[in-house]
Amino acid sequence: MRRNYFFKLTVVFLILTFLLSGCENAETTASDNAVGNTVVKTGDAVSETDDQEEMQDEYMGRKGNTLSSLTGLSDNVIRADDDPEAQKVFAELERINGDELKYVTDEYGYITFLRGSILEGKCESPDKAKKALDMLLPALSYNNEMKLTPGEFLEDDFGNLYVIFREELDGEINESNKIKLFFDEDRNMVGLSSSVFPNYFDSDKKIDTAQAVDIVRDIVKQNDPDNEYYIYEDEVQLGYRLLTDSLTGMDFNCRVFSVLTDNPDSDVSKDEAPYLEHYVSQSGIYLGAEPKNAELAGDSTANRRMIDKWFGRSDKRSYTTVIDSINGKKQEITVPVAYDDGKYFLEDVDRGILCADYWEFEYNDEIKVISSETNDDWDQSYVTAYYNYITSYDFYADGGWIGPDGVGAPMILLMDYCNEDHSPIDNLSYLGQFEQAHLFAATSRGNEYHKLLDMIAHEYTHSVTTSILGNVIYKNETGAINEGLSDILGELTELVHYAEIGNSVSADKVFLMGGDGSIVTFRDLYDPEAYRQPSAAGGVYYVPPAGVPSSMNDRGGVHVNSSVVSHILYEMAETADIPFDEMGKIWQTVACMLVPGTGFKELAEIIPTACELSKHTEYKEDISKCVEESRMAVTDPYSYPTQGTCKVYFDLPPWINWNRVRLDLIGEDDMMHSSWPAKGTNRIKVNVYPGKYKIQLTEFDESGKAEDAWFYDGNTWGDQSFKDRLTELKADSFYKVGPITPADPQ
Ligand SMILES: [Zn+2]
Repeated sequence: MRRNYFFKLTVVFLILTFLLSGCENAETTASDNAVGNTVVKTGDAVSETDDQEEMQDEYMGRKGNTLSSLTGLSDNVIRADDDPEAQKVFAELERINGDELKYVTDEYGYITFLRGSILEGKCESPDKAKKALDMLLPALSYNNEMKLTPGEFLEDDFGNLYVIFREELDGEINESNKIKLFFDEDRNMVGLSSSVFPNYFDSDKKIDTAQAVDIVRDIVKQNDPDNEYYIYEDEVQLGYRLLTDSLTGMDFNCRVFSVLTDNPDSDVSKDEAPYLEHYVSQSGIYLGAEPKNAELAGDSTANRRMIDKWFGRSDKRSYTTVIDSINGKKQEITVPVAYDDGKYFLEDVDRGILCADYWEFEYNDEIKVISSETNDDWDQSYVTAYYNYITSYDFYADGGWIGPDGVGAPMILLMDYCNEDHSPIDNLSYLGQFEQAHLFAATSRGNEYHKLLDMIAHEYTHSVTTSILGNVIYKNETGAINEGLSDILGELTELVHYAEIGNSVSADKVFLMGGDGSIVTFRDLYDPEAYRQPSAAGGVYYVPPAGVPSSMNDRGGVHVNSSVVSHILYEMAETADIPFDEMGKIWQTVACMLVPGTGFKELAEIIPTACELSKHTEYKEDISKCVEESRMAVTDPYSYPTQGTCKVYFDLPPWINWNRVRLDLIGEDDMMHSSWPAKGTNRIKVNVYPGKYKIQLTEFDESGKAEDAWFYDGNTWGDQSFKDRLTELKADSFYKVGPITPADPQ
């Protein structure tokens, strides 16, 4: 074997070395020149202390920093530039495709998106698709020995074929490493999307499941002694997961024990998932935790097993009622119901949709289907949610995508989302998959969101993208793309539906997510900044990718930067005057082209390619301009000159955990602008409008609670007594906020 992909775990001194060298090599300010009239402000000069290492030790001890760094990892990945085999493939691609060739590469120089072919003829058989992949592999992965097995393939309504290959490791499927080849209706290769993360293999020492559980129990007790965690000891799994090194920000696959606990934060932040999945390496090293939505297949009892038996009814009836529609109008709707043994059930026999009670499912292991003796006394909120899910289903089915997974997987809509004590959870959500059915929390007594077709279609789109990706990396750019696509396709579902029934959405509400009648508006795709979202990468409200995605940074801004993607919908309507149903086809094609690792750079190429594949080539040029304006492909979006704004940079000292801080600028209008260091760096960048701001830096502990805070007064950092001091920031200026000094050890 030519390539070495066995890595050794590193020890603590390497972490310290990284912190020190990371500080010395902090990014230069070359990009600062992009801003005219530069004003550089500095606070107290930093005094390089002789006992910096002592500070490091104190830092490590104080935080109980348990996330181990696998710093040696990146050194072992051969870069494509240094690999003659990879270079041969690039040369061959250039020879075959000439000027038409387009590709995007990852940080190691391997292809993540390709617009072009490696084949000189057509691809007539699956064997030839595999041959194309084998020819390309040296340019796709540092690991030439990577074993790829064909997964499912999709054929869309335009006749395009998407052939999916997944990595197989020791007989297990690694859902993060996936390559998707695109062929047009004539079976010419069009290109590919690829997501290949390095694999990390643990040392030989092996722990067992019980030891993994003990390690997690100790960690949560140590990091968060105030909270009780329930550990699902029977749910421990051993398998490949995509993890991120907490210090370098490097993503890698590792075979780990996954230990589920409840998530004590889930009630505090509505975006947080009900579970935490903790990862322990096979040699017993704790590697962090991620919030989890999806209920796992093993978490069930006999009562909830065999989903099929709940979808067995065949006597189809219907129910007609009048509901509140958009613009305050009434709308008559008819929904399918099923009849069985003297009772009616909220079940769509043809589409495979069943309505059941949330509490009974979650806390009593029972699927209690919503039923009626008379078919005229249904809860109107259930019927409205059910109708909106059916409408979402049909929007996709019109484009050839049947059910959440494209081939008709059943759905269960769970009504009255609540806690175990029956108190409502004020949210709606896609819950994930249970056996083969997709689950949704479809109504809540705490809100009226079930009336919002765009929000219901947003949740439905999550089930579609989850099925397409296999593994959703719900953080940073990949998470923002997931949220942005849900907003775009959710909004398009609503616009197309109301146009069809002749009750068009009023002009001032066309691009609002939510916002119908008296119900809250969540986001505005026309004016994202009105809801604290950026209109472009690097713009005001934009946030960088986070090293440790958590609730304190919206998992790297998944609901913040989603507008970098979703604002394109407005731009498309403005620039290219495309009918909404046609836009739907383009964006559904975009969704088909994604792989788990697809980020902004790749998406910027996927969108114009999707115009071609969906037979909308005439719009390609206009849409490419919209993509360009989103700046999603810019390497450092902050370096882009943005007139009339001020850029604030701040370098963190080594004794602060860069992954657990947030800089907040609070304007006199109470609007808050947050940022944190882009993953793997110690520099915080934020772009704001001119004005007076309170500037504060907060450090969080492992469990996300605020631990330390520093306040800036325009010259220096101080304690709580500086809290209300304002710093004036001027337009078209660059501010370098001075360093802070460590607080006395407490
Ligand atoms: Zn969402």
